[in-house]
Amino acid sequence: MTSGYRIAVVGGGIFGVTAAVHLARAGHTVELFEAAPDLLCGASSVNQRRLHHGYHYPRSSETVAAVRQGVRSFREEYPDSVRGDHEHYVAIASEGSLVSAEQYLQFCDRSGLPYREEFPPFLRRSSVDLALRVQEEAVDIAALRRSCWRKLTMAGVDVHLRSPQSFDDLKDFDRVVMATYARLNDLESSARAGTPSYQYEVCEKPVVRLPDQYRGRSIVILDGPFMCVDPYDRSGMFVLGNVVHAVHLTAVGRFPLVPVELADKLNGRIQHTRHTRFAQFVDHARPFLADIDQAQHMGSLFTIRAVLPHVEHTDARPTLVRRIDERVISIFSGKIATCVEAARDVTAMCAQVSAPPGADTPEVDAIGQTWRAAT
Ligand SMILES: Cc1cc2nc3c(=O)[nH]c(=O)nc-3n(C[C@H](O)[C@H](O)[C@H](O)COP(=O)(O)OP(=O)(O)OC[C@H]3O[C@@H](n4cnc5c(N)ncnc54)[C@H](O)[C@@H]3O)c2cc1C
Repeated sequence: MTSGYRIAVVGGGIFGVTAAVHLARAGHTVELFEAAPDLLCGASSVNQRRLHHGYHYPRSSETVAAVRQGVRSFREEYPDSVRGDHEHYVAIASEGSLVSAEQYLQFCDRSGLPYREEFPPFLRRSSVDLALRVQEEAVDIAALRRSCWRKLTMAGVDVHLRSPQSFDDLKDFDRVVMATYARLNDLESSARAGTPSYQYEVCEKPVVRLPDQYRGRSIVILDGPFMCVDPYDRSGMFVLGNVVHAVHLTAVGRFPLVPVELADKLNGRIQHTRHTRFAQFVDHARPFLADIDQAQHMGSLFTIRAVLPHVEHTDARPTLVRRIDERVISIFSGKIATCVEAARDVTAMCAQVSAPPGADTPEVDAIGQTWRAAT
């Protein structure tokens, strides 16, 4: 293979870090640029902390396949960050679910996803048709950040924090890998014309303390406009998810739109704001979860989620690794579990003979399948 390129990786989230480490291990000289004061400050830390095995995606077999393959390589790369000590539950809502209990069980059987029927103590039986204890895992983001630093140091990657890059800053590099997620088009639009549109969602994640019966337990109500609760690393607190109320603003386009009142709250620490939707999270959870009114709101995290537009029918979350031209590669991430597979694709592409600039290259996802962004 070709080696010895000078490569800039832009974006110190889990996808940029993992790509940087793999490229350096392959013999390249790698510099990683991150705008924030630390690694994993964007979506890689403001998320639900699930190492998805596929249980969330009964309508997207591609996403199930990608995360199942990803989980294996993620576990090998980041064993200290994977937590298997929680009890994970999935429940199917009695009303409004896009899949029935029977369809969900068939999906698990078909996908080889293990389960047993079991209700967690806090789940209200009257509002769900099915509850399963499943074999999902969680990601400990604090441990993952430590692991990232260790691996970057061992691989010899030169890390530049507080270093927002423009495309012009990068012209001296042989290869550029863009891993800036919700800000992908900031760089990509300089790299080429006709950048893709994404669906941007400004999201809130309330962090709460919950009664004892929730300790070490995680639950998601599927499949549609519902909610989930997951332990927040080893803090003893929990992070709430809600398909409807978490999203303060949705916009499809080339760049995200952010409500002014949340602009200075993105990707920061847990904070209180009068713009929180915490009360709606609780109202929405009340029919499903006992004692949720006792949730003590410790503040909220905010970030921008970027997903492919117009995929509501499948809820697909692919990871797309694309060659923009002979010098530039972009990673558009789906789920955390796919970061190692994406890094392998990036490393292989960096070593390949160049494709003609502007060629209509297919988008290769982290399991080597071809996806095309819906238009
Ligand atoms: C609310 C929410 C919940 C989620 N829950 C889960 C979950 O439970 N499980 C799961 O698997 N996935 C989940 N995801 C998806 C997952 O978190 C993301 O796909 C993944 O973390 C994104 O990683 P990344 O490295 O691509 O991006 P990020 O972590 O966002 O990193 C991109 C980095 O690029 C930096 N940057 C941007 N522009 C520049 C520039 N010009 N110069 C230098 N640096 C720049 C940013 O500061 C940022 O740190 C969730 C996502 C969201 C938003």
